[in-house]
Amino acid sequence: MTERLYYHDSNLHEFEAEVLDVMSAPNSGSRPAVILDRTAFYPTSGGQVFDTGWIIADQQKLRVAEVVEQEDGAILHYLESAPAMEKGGRVHGLIDVERRRDHMQQHSGQHVLSAAFVRLFNMATVSFHMGADYCSIDLDTKSLSSDQVQAAEALANDVVMENRPVAIRFVTPEEARNLGLRKLPPMEKDQLRLIDIHDFDLTACGGTHVSGTGQIGCILLRKTEKVKQGWRVEFVCGKRAVATARRDYATLTEAASLFSSHLEDVPQQIKKAQEETRASRKSREQLLEELADLHAARLLAETPESTGRKVVIRTYPDRDLTFIKLLAQRLTRQSTPVVALLGATSNPPALVFAESPGLPFDMGALMREALAQLGGRGGGSKEMAQGGPGKVEGLDEFLTALARRSDLG
Ligand SMILES: [Zn+2]
Repeated sequence: MTERLYYHDSNLHEFEAEVLDVMSAPNSGSRPAVILDRTAFYPTSGGQVFDTGWIIADQQKLRVAEVVEQEDGAILHYLESAPAMEKGGRVHGLIDVERRRDHMQQHSGQHVLSAAFVRLFNMATVSFHMGADYCSIDLDTKSLSSDQVQAAEALANDVVMENRPVAIRFVTPEEARNLGLRKLPPMEKDQLRLIDIHDFDLTACGGTHVSGTGQIGCILLRKTEKVKQGWRVEFVCGKRAVATARRDYATLTEAASLFSSHLEDVPQQIKKAQEETRASRKSREQLLEELADLHAARLLAETPESTGRKVVIRTYPDRDLTFIKLLAQRLTRQSTPVVALLGATSNPPALVFAESPGLPFDMGALMREALAQLGGRGGGSKEMAQGGPGKVEGLDEFLTALARRSDLG
């Protein structure tokens, strides 16, 4: 059992300890680890992630990469490199202060926010997650409106501004029962650690917390999302809130400069751009159809009829599948029966084989035959087939030879 110095003082960033155990790799494939008799390093638990920092022994300064709690109460400090220390040796521990402060801001912010949702809407927090970028709580509620989110955010920030004292208290489970805790933990321990935000929230928690709510900085609520057990609310506190707002502002500024508009006008500009895109797509489709009509007419005029049908073979270096499909439809809808073998050689390469209704050939089979030689995938019905050829060099000659071999006309 490691003595947890952080239980009593979240601002303790340095400590002395004795080495109880040194392990080269406590779990298969893991880093080396040490167990100390006491530690200020917080191990991942209760939604809060671990501290990092350094353990210094003699001349060695070892980076603490991860801290975990074992079932027997011992705290494992995983190190980035193998320690040259022995059982019984003395070490000096150093917490990464920047990371610890961030975790304190997020975790204390979570307590304030969870209490705000209870006070305003009687919505209990069922879980808390602290990520590298943002944190989230899951609320036990069937619905959550944006007005409710804003009201909870406002109350939480009021509590921050009031800079209420945050105290750590230890009580027995019996005492805890009569204190009206926001959440009662399982009562298997003989002592409970409580985090007491003066006149606002009292809850059992093992985490590292600020000593006054003012240290949380602002609390910014972001995405909300319906989840299985209720509603998830993402939030960021303190310096993270500033960093997040800064990032959002940079994104919005970049979007605004692309539109040469003010920040507030970006949504309107996007709407306008979407409408323009829709309109230009429609006009492009119309033009493409007209172009296909013209091409079809010209190809039919150029192609002589033989044995009661015309065979049109053509490849295009600058057209795509959509265009050659349109063209194939038009060619095969004429009064004279037509077999069309069309190719597009770029963006990406495509083949379309089509025949007028009533002709005896099988375009699907012909496509499979062509792709067996060219590589690529595709298929289709008796009258229309399409594919993506693996190679396109000499495609025109290939299609001419294919038509001749297959007795198309
Ligand atoms: Zn907590």
